[in-house]
Amino acid sequence: MRGVVKRFGALEVLRGIDLTIERGEVVVLCGPSGSGKSTLLRCINGLEAIALGEVIVEGEHVRSKGSKLDTLNPRIGMVFQAFNLFPHLTILQNLILAPTMVLKVPRAEAIERARALLARVGIEQKADAFPDMLSGGQQQRAAIARALAMNPELMLFDEPTSALDPEMIHEVLDVMRDLAHEGMTMVIVTHEMGFAREVASRVVFMDEGLIVEQAKPDAFFSKPREERTKQFIGKIL
Ligand code: ATP
Ligand code: MG
Repeated sequence: MRGVVKRFGALEVLRGIDLTIERGEVVVLCGPSGSGKSTLLRCINGLEAIALGEVIVEGEHVRSKGSKLDTLNPRIGMVFQAFNLFPHLTILQNLILAPTMVLKVPRAEAIERARALLARVGIEQKADAFPDMLSGGQQQRAAIARALAMNPELMLFDEPTSALDPEMIHEVLDVMRDLAHEGMTMVIVTHEMGFAREVASRVVFMDEGLIVEQAKPDAFFSKPREERTKQFIGKIL
């Protein structure tokens, strides 16, 4: 992202974001409520039009300023706080919809791959269940599997565990940790600072639409440089 500015009316929500993420990096994005974290993620995959600057993924402009994308970049997967599964489709149908419709993967192949992904996130026995029959943690693992079914190059997570009961948080973080170890490039908004410490290659701290500080997790948590970062860490740890 180079010089990315995002406005909602008169409100400047991103005020010049420069951020480079290398393949295989796991970036944890944190900051106070309203600092622009979700908006930043949404600009990366073209869900939000930007006012100024550019967003480039693998050398290609994700979107040009001024107009929203009419199709999302299939190489970028996104997982939200609310699981956003299609309620009227089974878990398996949720997983094969985009691959068959968007990528034109043959149905049998999509099903085979979907079952493998469900096994990978530990819910293969739920393939024919509907989303409301699953626990929150299972639904979120299904949502991750659905994003992976598109074979993304980059996965964006927006507070994927904050709607979950405590005992279900770890099962979702375990799946994300595995993904990170397999080399997936990930940008994760989370308040799970233990996870950030252990898994992140870099922690990026935002406040009021700007990146205030970024560092490797050890340095970020033990030697924050900026006063605002210290205050934030003091509140969340
Ligand atoms: P949180 O930790 O609470 O999720 P956040 O860092 O993700 O916060 P954003 O959701 O990116 O923050 O919001 C940044 C600012 O942009 C906030 O002031 C918010 O009210 C505003 N905002 C976000 N989406 C819209 C929108 N669609 N229209 C108008 N203002 C918006
Ligand atoms: Mg948010």
